[in-house]
Amino acid sequence: MSWDTVIGLEIHVQLATKTKIFSGASTAYGAEPNTQACAIDLAMPGTLPVLNKQAVNYAIMFGLAIDAEIGQVSAFERKNYFYPDSPKGYQTTQLERPIVGRGNVEIQLADGSSKNVRIHHAHLEEDAGKSLHEGNFNSNFSGIDLNRAGTPLIEIVSEPDMCNAEEAVAFARKIHGIVTSLGICDGEMSQGSMRFDVNVSVKPSGSETLGIRTETKNLNSYKFMEEAIKREVERQIDVIEDGGTIAQETRLYNGDTKVARSMRSKEEANDYRYFPCPDLLPVVVSDEEVAELRRNLPELPDARQARFVEQYSLSDYDAGILSSDAAMAKYFEAVTSACNNAKLAANWTMGELSARLNNEDISIANSPVSAEQLGGLVTRIADNSISGKMAKEVFEGIWAGEGSADDIIEARGLKQVSDSGALEQMVADVLTANQAMVDDYISTDEAKRKKKLGGFMGKIMQASKGQANPQQVNQILAQKLNDLL
Ligand code: ADP
Ligand code: MG
Repeated sequence: MSWDTVIGLEIHVQLATKTKIFSGASTAYGAEPNTQACAIDLAMPGTLPVLNKQAVNYAIMFGLAIDAEIGQVSAFERKNYFYPDSPKGYQTTQLERPIVGRGNVEIQLADGSSKNVRIHHAHLEEDAGKSLHEGNFNSNFSGIDLNRAGTPLIEIVSEPDMCNAEEAVAFARKIHGIVTSLGICDGEMSQGSMRFDVNVSVKPSGSETLGIRTETKNLNSYKFMEEAIKREVERQIDVIEDGGTIAQETRLYNGDTKVARSMRSKEEANDYRYFPCPDLLPVVVSDEEVAELRRNLPELPDARQARFVEQYSLSDYDAGILSSDAAMAKYFEAVTSACNNAKLAANWTMGELSARLNNEDISIANSPVSAEQLGGLVTRIADNSISGKMAKEVFEGIWAGEGSADDIIEARGLKQVSDSGALEQMVADVLTANQAMVDDYISTDEAKRKKKLGGFMGKIMQASKGQANPQQVNQILAQKLNDLL
């Protein structure tokens, strides 16, 4: 029996406002616990929330970017539940009248096709604090850090339109690209600025009825999302094929230990007793305000992709990758302007640099290799000063903080020899010193000669301590041997 997978995402995006959604406390990341929680965030009796206008504008900008209906009157509600890191005893959120209504997001897939994912809505809400579990053998304790309490979020809810992990990841990346391009979120996933909840179900192939879904919460990397989806799909199919049924539940996936487990059952709908928040007036947005925000929307990933193809003659695919992330796009353009070679700049940004950043889990905005430095390296590759192999060594040097490409080439004596006179001499010397190899080459039949070239190349590169320009040596060598036949 074959199965179809159905996936819908709920994405929490932290808005990059300076202060919280209902208070003037700072939202900066990484401060000492509880130094950025004011009386409102602590839910002191008698305090009243004041809505942050910037958060509302950011949410509207997101709505405009996905062609959504903007809720001209939206309203806040209280979602009641107990959580140790939420002193109010409820979350202020939106339910019946969200700020952003139905919209659409187009995703590109590896096979070149694209697909539309419908957005059900996006609403404004506040984040909770954090429970910190610390301790050692002798003492274990949990503390509450309320610095994050009241940080503005939009929660983006998709329709169940994705049918495998690749599509879900492409969608997540696209949302990341949109919110970072808009500048409404810093996109730092490792700091929790974007968190993904993945709803997954399976159904017999072709069936119209959706299966029962589980929700895996709080994934904050694309890799973990992909793993979590693949494992959950397998688990559900196993359960059903063994005659069982799927329990509608909330699950957790630990990307470090690769362990997935159930967190809580969702079989009976939670009764959150939503009701309109009496402390906050409905949010009314005028046509003029929306029009003003629309006029000032920055360049979005799709438009940037088209521009990259046009301006830098990149392939659709390369332009798509480079424009999908605002920080990556900015980096690429800075490398290009430093070296004037878009193709090589694209290759190095997407290749060596991205691979290294991924490996070390560093975002491109915090890259130890600056765009100017990478541009300097690309310049030396393009003008043949260094070979591809040397370039990797130079890149390592820049990464390790040894300075610019030119500094490292100088310090390590890495200059490539491209002077044709010097190379001619080098090749001639190697041929003279290896007469037996030359005789063997001449007496071999033509079909097998090609293979023997490698032996000469090795000796010449060795003689030049790896500094001879290999393309040039190849040409000179072929010419000289040909002359001997
Ligand atoms: P709830 O009201 O319980 O939160 P929603 O209908 O709002 O449920 O859906 C929450 C998320 O789950 C949405 O992203 C939606 O696309 C997704 N979803 C709903 N049904 C399914 C299903 N059968 N399989 C996979 N995802 C689903
Ligand atoms: Mg929901």
